[in-house]
Amino acid sequence: MDASPRDELLQLIRDLGAQLAWQREAGLVEVPTQGATPVARAAVAPVVVAAPAVIAQAPAAVTPPVVAPPVVAAPVVAAPVVAAPVVAAPVVAAALPARVTPAVAPAPVVAPVEPAAEGRSAALRVIQGEVRACVACKLAPTRTQTVFARGNPDARICFIGEGPGADEDRTGLPFVGVAGQLLDRIIAAMRLSEEQVYIANIVKCRPPNNRVPDHEEMSACTPFLLRQLEVVKPDVIVALGKTATAFLLDSKGSMTSMRGRWHSWKGVAVMPTWHPSYVLRVRDDPKSTARAEVWTDMKLVLERLGLPVPAARG
Ligand code: SF4
Repeated sequence: MDASPRDELLQLIRDLGAQLAWQREAGLVEVPTQGATPVARAAVAPVVVAAPAVIAQAPAAVTPPVVAPPVVAAPVVAAPVVAAPVVAAPVVAAALPARVTPAVAPAPVVAPVEPAAEGRSAALRVIQGEVRACVACKLAPTRTQTVFARGNPDARICFIGEGPGADEDRTGLPFVGVAGQLLDRIIAAMRLSEEQVYIANIVKCRPPNNRVPDHEEMSACTPFLLRQLEVVKPDVIVALGKTATAFLLDSKGSMTSMRGRWHSWKGVAVMPTWHPSYVLRVRDDPKSTARAEVWTDMKLVLERLGLPVPAARG
């Protein structure tokens, strides 16, 4: 028997329902109607046409990521991270003063002492080198070696004698013979050491037979002594004997009249006194007062320097 229109309609409805049920099961029916859950859509997209729909809506959903400025801002924010080193600069800058401070701090400690002393020593070494090479007068051919100075370039007291003797010519140092030993005893009696005095002579080469250097020899050699004194800059010069006294003070006065009184050489106090060689020559003369007078003169020197004056000579 043929199906009635009503039966055909019912069958059609059943088929349609089954189709819809299949589509629903496959998720096809919901795609066009929901369109919101990106995750679900992403999973479905490859399977269903819904993919275009997802893409179509993507701009709206993707926009935020594009506005990834926040994301991009991250690197921008990272800039401060890069700027960190810049910020570290102050740290480094702060460290600089720290390095400089210790570098500057010791300077005052060193500056007042070593540079001055080292400067004097260096200047004197230059002069000494010139003296060693000097052949400016007739004393050069007969010398064994030149005799420059001994003592401390930073001393406040300079003792200036006449010229080297045999012992000095042999050793290259001034006042190391018998007269030198007496000078050392005088210095010791003053409660001073070699580190507190500077000792030199008018001429740097030994005159034959220990004679007094002549005018030509002194004129040729004394520029060295003047330069030495300019470098050492003593507070007091003790002129030992007539030759040193006459040169420094440009005087023809006798030692008796010159010694025991203060004189001046370029503003530096000068005390003339007897040469140790003279004191030794007259030591057996009961009438000689030379030894006592030297001690009197040395006490004046100590007073001038503000140093303690021993009660009696050693
Ligand atoms: S005595 Fe003086 S000037 Fe004469 S040769 Fe010696 S260093 Fe030179």
